[in-house]
This record gives sequence, structure tokens and C-alpha cells, in this order.
Amino acid sequence: MQTNNYYDDRRFCDACGSYMRFLQSPSAAYCAECGGRVRIFSPGDMATFRSSLASKRVQAVDRDTSAGARETDEGARKRRIV
Ligand SMILES: [Zn+2]
Repeated sequence: MQTNNYYDDRRFCDACGSYMRFLQSPSAAYCAECGGRVRIFSPGDMATFRSSLASKRVQAVDRDTSAGARETDEGARKRRIV
């Protein structure tokens, strides 16, 4: 059985200063209490989210760089063999 969590969903309202129920329109979402624009994350949670993304991206770049270095070595070896 699937639970529909739509009515439990909350977004952050700057005016109310906390996560509130909201009304979704195609272009934006509005606080159900005060009618102000709401966002998915509070500023603090957004900073946390961004920094976690940034650290993941750095790890991914590190991995890509080392893979690229290995690739180049292999390529050089193959060229030498041929
Ligand atoms: Zn509000």
C-alpha cells in the first residue's frame, strides 16, 4: 500500500520562519498560512545541502582525475606496443 505524503509535505516560509504547508502552482509554491513564497530548504538546510553536494563533487573530480591519469598511461603503453 502506498502512502500519499502530499499533505505532510512542508516547505520553508521566510515570513513564518519555519516549514509550513504550502500550495503548489506550476511556477512557484506559496505558504498556506501567509501566502508568501516558500522554498524547499530553509537557508541553513540549503547551506548544508550545498556543502554536502560540493564535497561529493570534489570526490567525483578526484576520482575522474585519477581515472584520466590511468587512462593516459594505458594509452601511452598501447601506443608504445603498437
Ligand atoms: Zn508563511
